[in-house]
Amino acid sequence: MSEENKNFSKKIKKIFIDPKIFTFKFGCKCQGECCNYGVFTDQKEAEFIISIKDKIIPLMDESQSKNVSNWFEPPEEDEDFDSGFAVGTEIINGKCTFLDKDGLCTLQKLAILEGKHQWEYKPMYCILFPLTIFEGAITIDDEHIDRLKYCNKVDANELTIYETCRDELKHFFGNEAFAELEKYREEYLNEIQIGAEK
Ligand code: SF4
Ligand code: SF4
Repeated sequence: MSEENKNFSKKIKKIFIDPKIFTFKFGCKCQGECCNYGVFTDQKEAEFIISIKDKIIPLMDESQSKNVSNWFEPPEEDEDFDSGFAVGTEIINGKCTFLDKDGLCTLQKLAILEGKHQWEYKPMYCILFPLTIFEGAITIDDEHIDRLKYCNKVDANELTIYETCRDELKHFFGNEAFAELEKYREEYLNEIQIGAEK
């Protein structure tokens, strides 16, 4: 992760927190349009996915490629990934190589079939979206949200992106760090409320 991000003051587990996540309204109501563009995985995640190819391939359908060499783009340097390298999943038939014709992620399907946690095999950036890690901070992936046709385009979203993604954030940070995040959120919301009342 990038070491410096001068825009944010709070850091948890070496990651800065963009407080916009506490107030930005978001509703997740479409059928997984976000998977149509693929995802950047950490190189280590891509290598792990390839290592379990024999379990993945039998679950793929005719809209997906069973040829492993078609699954990932070449690695590129990126400090926001633990290994220092990001690897994009390829787009096949207008969708991520791991998305089947029914709109299900094969990696998630495999984990569920094996009785594991549904996100066991899923790249971290898939779990986090519509949040992302950018320049060392957890923030809103507004660039991707904006280019999607349906994502967050419905009116009257009652929840914030933080509330919508609570489980994902807990999974990402772990229980202890998530408790710290909850505390920071309370403090931040109190602070802006006091500011608004002045
Ligand atoms: S995150 Fe956005 S694109 Fe993805 S399923 Fe939810 S609303 Fe749809
Ligand atoms: S790996 Fe799965 S969740 Fe991630 S973009 Fe591809 S189909 Fe979607």
